[in-house]
Amino acid sequence: MNLILLGPPGAGKGTQARRLEDTRGLVQLSTGDMLRALVASGSPLGQQAKDIMAAGKLVPDELVIEMISQRIDQPDVKNGFILDGFPRTVAQAEALDKMLADKGLKLNHVIEMKVDDAALVERITGRYTCAKCGKGYHDTFEKPKVDGVCDQCGGTEFKRRADDNAETVTTRLDQYHQQTAPILPYYASRGVLKGVDGMADIDVVTEQIAAILG
Ligand code: ADP
Ligand code: AMP
Repeated sequence: MNLILLGPPGAGKGTQARRLEDTRGLVQLSTGDMLRALVASGSPLGQQAKDIMAAGKLVPDELVIEMISQRIDQPDVKNGFILDGFPRTVAQAEALDKMLADKGLKLNHVIEMKVDDAALVERITGRYTCAKCGKGYHDTFEKPKVDGVCDQCGGTEFKRRADDNAETVTTRLDQYHQQTAPILPYYASRGVLKGVDGMADIDVVTEQIAAILG
């Protein structure tokens, strides 16, 4: 099964994608994670992406399209994938269609996670992850069971993203409304678009997604 989780930054795409990895054996393909790895590699391309990401703008379509195309060919993706953070422009959505057709793959579901902008600011500024295993947490909404200790791996170091600050969030939300939201009618017209209430509790959102996937 191949699906897209579509929604603004902080909507809960990564949180739900990691749950679907565990329960359905699908692989999360996050262009944001891939780009952060590229930035960490220190390559010239990574250096270029770093400044764009820090400003909350979108990196060039060609770069993310190529990253996704190469990643989808890896053997671990054969049971299916969850796209998280891609596509983010109509050009990316069109390129994805062509790419999947060329590879003989099909998109089963596009799930829009609807969350109010005001809630997103709080979600993003309170987000952090375990430095060892990457499990996501939130200062208010998803705390570790034992303070300072990762539930999943026992790690005690946590990190916050450089772009998860109040100033950059505004630009990222603007980019979502201007560049990414136009994808919604693109998928609606193909009859694959479903919506979930991303304002609900994390477990409730998981149930809503499960009901769509069957
Ligand atoms: P995205 O991948 O869409 O940018 P995340 O999954 O990283 O979003 O979620 C952003 C933050 O909000 C995280 O800190 C996460 O723990 C928290 N979060 C995710 N889903 C919910 C929810 N339904 N209610 C409250 N907080 C949530
Ligand atoms: P995310 O982790 O999805 O919030 O993405 C973090 C940042 O990476 C974004 O603000 C963009 O700068 C960049 N990015 C991630 N995915 C894409 C994409 N599909 N197209 C363009 N830029 C992207």
